[in-house]
Amino acid sequence: GAADVIAAFKTELEFHNLTTEVNTKGTGCPGFCERGPIVMIYPEEICYLQVKPEDVPEIVSHTIKEKKVVERLLYVDPATGNKATKESDIPFYKNQQRNILSENIRIDSKSIDDYLAIGGYSALSKVLFKMTPEEVMGEVKKSNLRGRGGGGFPAWRKWEESRNAPDPIKYVIVNADEGDPGAFMDRALIEGNPHSILEGLIIGAYAVGAHEGFIYVRQEYPLAVVNINLAIRQAEERGLVGKNILGSNFDFTVKVHMGAGAFVCGESSALMTALEGRAGEPRPKYIHTAVKGVWDHPSVLNNVETWANVTQIINKGADWFTQFGTEGSKGTKIFSLVGKITNTGLVEVPMGVTLKDIIQNIGGGIPGGKKFKAVQTGGPSGGCIPEAQLDLVVDFDQLTKAGSMMGSGGMIVMDEDTCMVDIARYFIDFLKDESCGKCTPCREGIRQMLKVLTNITTGKGKEGDIELLEELAESTGAALCALGKSAPNPVLSTIRYFREEYEAHIRHKK
Ligand code: SF4
Repeated sequence: GAADVIAAFKTELEFHNLTTEVNTKGTGCPGFCERGPIVMIYPEEICYLQVKPEDVPEIVSHTIKEKKVVERLLYVDPATGNKATKESDIPFYKNQQRNILSENIRIDSKSIDDYLAIGGYSALSKVLFKMTPEEVMGEVKKSNLRGRGGGGFPAWRKWEESRNAPDPIKYVIVNADEGDPGAFMDRALIEGNPHSILEGLIIGAYAVGAHEGFIYVRQEYPLAVVNINLAIRQAEERGLVGKNILGSNFDFTVKVHMGAGAFVCGESSALMTALEGRAGEPRPKYIHTAVKGVWDHPSVLNNVETWANVTQIINKGADWFTQFGTEGSKGTKIFSLVGKITNTGLVEVPMGVTLKDIIQNIGGGIPGGKKFKAVQTGGPSGGCIPEAQLDLVVDFDQLTKAGSMMGSGGMIVMDEDTCMVDIARYFIDFLKDESCGKCTPCREGIRQMLKVLTNITTGKGKEGDIELLEELAESTGAALCALGKSAPNPVLSTIRYFREEYEAHIRHKK
């Protein structure tokens, strides 16, 4: 509904002859999806939530003309009844560390001038004229930036491997094939601040010695496709992409490739095969894609959020970046907080906060007076974490130890009414559809697990089914790629923490 609100502002400001004094701007996603559309009025920084076109005349006459606040559009704290006038006073925002997401609401995502005005492309200019590729690599290594798309592999290792490969033709790639159910972090970034991703990519290309890049974006994100294409065109016009970038001797071109909707194409080798125009199927990776990727040339693939972090690390330095996070997981992480939670939206927190911090302080707890039951992290490859582990700190290693994973940042909250066996079945059903079918453990293993889970949830379960699921999970671990290898995680974690629900289904035949 934001476009209608913007149109209403333009009409109303024109009616009051205020268009020269007040500039109306559409921005990227501000993150508080539960309460959108959001209107921010500067310089006072007044924040209005759930604004409808019919609210606009009152905002213009009261706030813009008379400098009064429209009370009914402010955030009200459900516990105290206190109202918050500014964004920074709203608990959802106050408890975050929005290093990356904060830029989304400072710019019109379709304007390169807006991006330049907040210091955009200064990191690129810095690397081209003040840093050698080795120094760029050193800064990223010092930051210990780990990939935000899945397993948390250190970004610099891929970069170094690719840079050291003797092949002179190298590629850098943005993985924007975000397919986890409930995840929309990368979508918000690429729609809301496409230049920051492009800038990070060009910096990476300079560091590894690549002169060509690709942005692989799923076609289900049409606005992301439009905005990133526009960003590339604008960057070309300003000499930021193409030959002799900004007058340096560095050349770089980039193309957008639209994915055709296969979840497995988020996997590096499948993505690169799809990029070549072939069916997107993973291959064994005894030779890494950083050495032999697209058309067998060294190819560095990082996801959207990782590239956005590169831009910030170069701009502000590795020391700034490492002040956030834990020993092994530095920086911030963006999560999409969804499910049975009061404040649905995108949140960015320093690594090391607890799950409780995110769910209670930022998410506002469970709506309708219900009790929290579990949170699923890491998408279909992740697992469900129960209430007893809510004090778990969120970083790559702790989540893995708890039987889940960080994944790309999907966080689905479940309340007391959620059946955990149904949840496991949902994810296995999703993966059954998305398995490419190339290897037997995944193709057949997932199918058999689904059969057993369907029996259990429809009252046809029998003694020994839980053990059978565990046995199938073990054999699925022999699959070729991460999709199959990690497919049993939602089943194993729900058996681990909610075994009694499986037993109750089997015992009571329902
Ligand atoms: Fe395809 Fe599944 Fe095998 Fe991966 S594990 S290659 S998705 S069949």
